[in-house]
Amino acid sequence: MTAGDARPGAIAPVLPGRQLGVIGGGQLGRMFAVAARRLGYRVAVWSDDPRAPAFAVADLAVRAPYDDAAALDAFTGAVDVVTVEFENLPQALLEEIEARVPLRPSAAAVAATQHRAREKRALEALGVPLAPWRAVAPPHAVAPPHAVAALEAAAAHVGRPAILKTAGFGYDGKGQVAVPAEGPWPAAAVAMAGREPCVLEAFVDLVLELSVVVARSPDGDVRAFPVAENHHARHVLDLTVMPARVGADVADRAQALAVRVVSGLGIFGLACVELFLTRGGELWVNEVAPRPHNSGHVTIEACRVDQFEQQVRAVCNLPLGDPASVWPGAMANLMGDLWSRGEPDWVAALAVPGVRLHLYGKHTARPGRKMGHLSAVADDPNTAAELVLRARAASTPAAVGPEAASLHRDPDARPGA
Ligand code: AMP
Repeated sequence: MTAGDARPGAIAPVLPGRQLGVIGGGQLGRMFAVAARRLGYRVAVWSDDPRAPAFAVADLAVRAPYDDAAALDAFTGAVDVVTVEFENLPQALLEEIEARVPLRPSAAAVAATQHRAREKRALEALGVPLAPWRAVAPPHAVAPPHAVAALEAAAAHVGRPAILKTAGFGYDGKGQVAVPAEGPWPAAAVAMAGREPCVLEAFVDLVLELSVVVARSPDGDVRAFPVAENHHARHVLDLTVMPARVGADVADRAQALAVRVVSGLGIFGLACVELFLTRGGELWVNEVAPRPHNSGHVTIEACRVDQFEQQVRAVCNLPLGDPASVWPGAMANLMGDLWSRGEPDWVAALAVPGVRLHLYGKHTARPGRKMGHLSAVADDPNTAAELVLRARAASTPAAVGPEAASLHRDPDARPGA
């Protein structure tokens, strides 16, 4: 139990048969809704994207901008509890919802994770280890020399090489500029620092990236999923292997750290803590997502309960499921680039033993867009990874070039959805 937890049994659970609300209609909201419906709930989805994939599995679809007062009335009037599927939501909206129905995670917990500097300060206050960092916040519309001075001041603490990141609304490596060890500041970094609040982070000499999904219910029950090992391509998650191929000591420390972070930030519902394993064997927190995570998709096949059912249980204050590993698993993302020569060959992919296909129902494939994922389970993590990669390669035997990929660009699609 941590501060803010209720006595077990003190908060009434939201029982199957009731309607749950989720804000955001991407694949995370869609998989949450599928899990909730399996448990016998009805689901209301609110998204500002009229073609959001979660609407296909919603009992109530609210297609409206997030500042629409009538939509707020209709949505909150129809649900017993609300959760989020992404964190970059207007604070005013979250506070309005919270004033009417329970919101898990709370507006304050979401706010802490929406902004990199705020999140890092909150984590430092908890004594959580982070890569050296400094806020870079020159006044708006500054001339380049002032931005350079602000960057130099941050670098005096952080050192170089480093990565400059926008403080708000960043995801999947967007809004990031690599800063080399020496030489002038990259023009993109100077422009970014002059335009909006940023953080400068030391470039971490990392051995591996890990993540831990943690569920926490209002009654104070906290459960961590097995540690996931994550490999990125162009700053976007490409492959997850669970359990991570690390020693028991690292896995135990990662889970304990993630539980400390989620409890310390006061998050109810589900959250993911992304970690760097440094060459020195330390674990540093990269960032926290107060919702299900792409790396947690592998729990659908690899664990006794998956992250989406666990989110439903935590949000509804039901007993949490056992997140233990059933068998090793791996997950490979299917990005829109794979559609450059038409629909991938799913027959070939599904012919690989142990492989399962998840497609998110997005209307248009475009480069960089997450369209779905493949997963595989096997007797050991290496084989699971090998199978899922073999299935993905079988789905698109022809090499995918950037020119071909750009043919399917969809100019009006929302980035990152
Ligand atoms: P983020 O959006 O902050 O999670 O960054 C996306 C990816 O960029 C991470 O998963 C890492 O692969 C890489 N990255 C971000 N920050 C750092 C860092 N400080 N040092 C090394 N790699 C990083």
